[in-house]
Amino acid sequence: MKNLTILGSTGSIGVSTLEVVAAHPDKFRVVALTAGANLELLKQQIETFQPDLVSVLTADKAKALSRSLSGKKPQIMHGVEGLIAAATASDTTMVVAAIVGAAGLVPTAAAIMAGKDVALANKETLVTAGHLIMKMVREKNVCLYPVDSEHCAVFQSMAGHRTQDIARVILTASGGPFLHWGKEKLASATVADALNHPNWSMGKKITVDSASMMNKGLEVIEARWLFDIPVGRIAVNIHPQSIVHSMVEYIDGSVMAQLGVPDMKGPIAYALTYPGRVASGVKPLDLTALSGLTFLKPDTDRFPALKLAYDAVQAGESMPAVMNAANEIAVESFLSGRIGFMAIPETIAKVMDLHPPRSLHSIEEVLEADRWGRRTAKEVLGCTN
Ligand code: NAD
Ligand code: MG
Repeated sequence: MKNLTILGSTGSIGVSTLEVVAAHPDKFRVVALTAGANLELLKQQIETFQPDLVSVLTADKAKALSRSLSGKKPQIMHGVEGLIAAATASDTTMVVAAIVGAAGLVPTAAAIMAGKDVALANKETLVTAGHLIMKMVREKNVCLYPVDSEHCAVFQSMAGHRTQDIARVILTASGGPFLHWGKEKLASATVADALNHPNWSMGKKITVDSASMMNKGLEVIEARWLFDIPVGRIAVNIHPQSIVHSMVEYIDGSVMAQLGVPDMKGPIAYALTYPGRVASGVKPLDLTALSGLTFLKPDTDRFPALKLAYDAVQAGESMPAVMNAANEIAVESFLSGRIGFMAIPETIAKVMDLHPPRSLHSIEEVLEADRWGRRTAKEVLGCTN
């Protein structure tokens, strides 16, 4: 029996995780759940999974949740304190890190420091603080399993091989809804256009990141830390069908790939049950039903965010954290209709130009760089709040 904390249980990954858990009640127990604002869904999850502890964003939401529950109630906490309590709960053996954005960093780091294994969906944790997190993972001797489908594919394609024999890691990207859009059309892309992802159903932030290709940029940085591969050996191929989830090329020319129907329950189940496998609810792959599998080079002229991420990781130090923060602010502004789609990479580039990278020695220093990036992005965008 594995005892789980799910950080971000009401999100896309959180909900898929609970679907896997519900299918295997003999294998998993839910100890703690955390959510942002969706109290209605959290209430249903509490009734179904009976956690000992839950946490929500604010004290008001905690009170509202408590009032809405009848019968046996879990302990209800809120804020960062609640997230940390859930991440470090004594009964928990594995934490599923599925909060979106840099907000996931502190509880994920707390889980590792408390000796918990982590199933990591929150890529921003490694983007902002990769070197510190991987050091903590080594020191605490915990396991960090990738949930991101590409990294799960790389992880599976590396099994039984030696890291020194790897020539390249090749991350695949669907190309998102704008794969064939010209620059002019991209400039007038609407929120609805950006949220219309062809293959994956995900939270809004990552869906916009997929449309701008910043998601792939974040994943390049995530792979750099997770697998300790120099970024120059991490390539990106556009693969519009999203069937090959990523590949590893070895020095003898062999390429190992992992394939499957695009459904996050596959990578989630693998992270939860590694090295075993369970039925995940993912439909079987019928290659004969596909008209073909294609691969293209990414176009960083139309999708500059991918290049910005390579630049950020090459600059190193605080630059990826600042880039990530600027992206979060720009995506929020795009989603609320304040800026156009191409203003996302433009804003990030301006913020990065203004940032002299400096080394980061603690999570607190990462958070400082994150705050600097957010503040500067708001200034660049002329936001008043
Ligand atoms: P989502 O927006 O659907 O869900 C996010 C969850 O985090 C929700 O439960 C929300 O309430 C909570 N949350 C948001 N802000 C918070 C805050 N400040 N404090 C506490 N909780 C907060 O996001 P998602 O699509 O499930 O993505 C979650 C993470 O997984 C992201 O880092 C994303 O990049 C990564 N990921 C997602 C997918 C996918 O298919 N959705 C695939 C790969 C990786
Ligand atoms: Mg991914």
